[in-house]
Amino acid sequence: MNFNEIQSLDESYVLQTYGRNRIAIDHGRGATLWDTEGKEYIDFTSGIGVCSLGYANEAWAKAIYGQAMKVGHISNLFYTEPYARLASRLVPAAGMAAVFFGNSGAEANEGMIKLARKYSYEKYGEGRATVITLKNSFHGRTITTLKATGQDHFHEYFFPFTEGFRYAEANSMDSLLDAAGEDVCGVMMELIQGEGGVNPLQKDYVQAVAKLCAEKDWLLLIDEVQTGIGRTGTLFAYQQFDVLPDVVTFAKGIAGGLPFGGFLTNGKCRSVLRAGDHGSTFGGNPMSAAAANVVMDVLTPDFLAQVAEKGKYLREGIAALGSPCVSGVRGMGLMTGVGVQGMTHKELKDQLMAAGLLCLTAGADTLRLLPPLVITREEIDRGLAIMAQVMK
Ligand SMILES: *Cc1c(COP(=O)(O)O)cnc(C)c1O
Repeated sequence: MNFNEIQSLDESYVLQTYGRNRIAIDHGRGATLWDTEGKEYIDFTSGIGVCSLGYANEAWAKAIYGQAMKVGHISNLFYTEPYARLASRLVPAAGMAAVFFGNSGAEANEGMIKLARKYSYEKYGEGRATVITLKNSFHGRTITTLKATGQDHFHEYFFPFTEGFRYAEANSMDSLLDAAGEDVCGVMMELIQGEGGVNPLQKDYVQAVAKLCAEKDWLLLIDEVQTGIGRTGTLFAYQQFDVLPDVVTFAKGIAGGLPFGGFLTNGKCRSVLRAGDHGSTFGGNPMSAAAANVVMDVLTPDFLAQVAEKGKYLREGIAALGSPCVSGVRGMGLMTGVGVQGMTHKELKDQLMAAGLLCLTAGADTLRLLPPLVITREEIDRGLAIMAQVMK
């Protein structure tokens, strides 16, 4: 099928919930993609931070095929090797105590919120169920995680939302103390606000929040759905903020493109959720877990150092363009935000796409770049050359 045929079927039969680009992607290799009309693109999106190993990674594809030919799914009432093996690698590398496997970011965040409420209920009784989250955050699309998201426009239409959320300004301890109260059980935040505009939190703020949480026995709940699994140049971003969360979620990049997510807990929280308290039919699917084990094979300390270096190289390259469209460049590892001025972020994204570079947008005025972690310098240079041509 060509693009027009695919689009026409989509428009006839699919709920039109996405502001889609007018491209149908056909195949890819590394960090390069081709559409159905044969046009080539450098990919600075990896889905949305999902395809950490790029496209057509052979070890990844073989692991999925191999597991599919053994057993593609079995319920969580049985043990499987890829699941147990993945847990045994992820937990120590994160410095945590135990893991729960689900399928997506919103589901992982729901589980984390359930855990925080149960921890508090068992220790302090009713009335201590409020989670403080940050303004401009993004935590997912379910009724509860929409309410956890600190942006008013997500709190429309779908009433009644789950109760028990209050919002504080990022990087302000005063604002956090204003939101505090006897009813609080935890503070939930992203360390780099992704959808909100690629805004890294200040390290001293994150450390002050962690200290306050420890004093008040609030759980420190970190949403690393976007920042986790190597994206920022360490397995988790909190490893660069020198804090340890009580619970941390992950999803997007963990299985390199298959649906997978979950949360890790520290020792204090590992026994809060017990048999019957939480579960997931598809969570920890053996094919997804086999794929995630390949991602873990790739994320060696040396590879993670390269992610950090390539991200710096990309940001320096964008700054060196001296483009009048750029108001600033920020980020960590291969998670970069480019402030856009003189045109909208969507206009710039569309112009780059027409010239052969795929990018994402975030916040009100930010171009968001999340290339596959395996992107080569040569592919980065080709992306930078397209930016130079479009943004001069
Ligand atoms: C993408 C994202 C989510 C939601 O993940 P889904 O898999 O779409 O449910 C939650 N939190 C953050 C920080 C995200 O970037």
